[in-house]
Amino acid sequence: MTTLTDTATPAAAVTRRPVTGFLHSWDLSTGVDGPGTRFVTFLSGCPLTCLYCHNPDTWRMRDGKRTTADDVLAEAAKYTKFISAAGGGATVSGGEPLLQPVFTGELLHRLKHDLGLHTALDTSGFLGVRATDALLRDADLVLLDIKSRDRDTYKKVTGRPLRPTLDFARRLADGGKDVWVRFVLVPGLTDDPDNIEGVARFAASLGNVSRVDVLPFHKLGEGKWAALGKDFTLRDTPSPTARQVATAREIFAAQGLNAV
Ligand code: SF4
Repeated sequence: MTTLTDTATPAAAVTRRPVTGFLHSWDLSTGVDGPGTRFVTFLSGCPLTCLYCHNPDTWRMRDGKRTTADDVLAEAAKYTKFISAAGGGATVSGGEPLLQPVFTGELLHRLKHDLGLHTALDTSGFLGVRATDALLRDADLVLLDIKSRDRDTYKKVTGRPLRPTLDFARRLADGGKDVWVRFVLVPGLTDDPDNIEGVARFAASLGNVSRVDVLPFHKLGEGKWAALGKDFTLRDTPSPTARQVATAREIFAAQGLNAV
């Protein structure tokens, strides 16, 4: 009698095509890309063109290095013990990781299940429709950039419409996914109190936002814009003062949010 086991290809003999994607770089970071010390992979390619982007060298996918998920996992595995002991995890960032949803999904799945790490997806949400439910299940946390609540300002900042990000935020809320909202405070661009309050009210209405990072605008990426022959239009824009940052955090806190 032939059994299923007899005819099935032994698992070890199945050759699975390696999942590949375009990677800009990886790094270890603490405090800004999720809880604890994290192994952060920066994927290449982004559909947005944020005026304050400090990594415009990630914008074109083809400028990244084609890399296998195996290679990324092997690199992350070197730090697993240290990261776990430090209460950290792994974050898939960019660029925009959802521009490469298969690669991103594979990384999140294996970082979580093969290495046992806490996982985070760092996204603008613009391509949220490309995130499958399975991909989201493998992300313990989503870092969601809401760059403005005002449609015109969002378009001015990113070159793209706001709606997909709001839709994605609501989907994450419906699924009870833990979310940290990230908001970049840019004097003269995103710092209108009505705009900040709009983001705060929206974030508070979701019910799943455990933290808001108010990130002060800086110009550390200005040199990259010049190297790419791109015009950095915010060159004369100052960083916000400590008082301006504190005021923005107070606006979020007034909506019951944990703003840092
Ligand atoms: S979404 Fe991020 S990577 Fe893309 S342009 Fe904006 S700041 Fe840069």
